[in-house]
Amino acid sequence: MQRLPDLAPGESARCPPCNKELWRRCEDSLNRTLALTLAAAILYVIANSVPMLGLTIVGRGASAAVIGGAQHLWENGQVIVGVLVLFTAVIAPAFPATSNSTACASSWEMPARVVQGTAT
Ligand SMILES: [Zn+2]
Repeated sequence: MQRLPDLAPGESARCPPCNKELWRRCEDSLNRTLALTLAAAILYVIANSVPMLGLTIVGRGASAAVIGGAQHLWENGQVIVGVLVLFTAVIAPAFPATSNSTACASSWEMPARVVQGTAT
């Protein structure tokens, strides 16, 4: 096990014997992650509020957002399909955005990294 030193953004830690790069600290990674997380949250809200399902039968049309489609399936006896649509299109996509924002908020002060293995 080897303890790597705290690195400034853009710096890298190298193995002393072979000079191979062990780890590089990305420049401005927290702000990039935060920006991507905010963009994902905005797109998540848009994706779940704009009508995305449309059906036209004999001149009659209907459209619904994804959550409305899941509700419609539930109300028409397609409970399992409705739950699957709700989970895969609404609930599951929310987890990466919330976990990223939690990781960003908790990692403003990062501890020193520990790399397992032996340096060659
Ligand atoms: Zn090495």
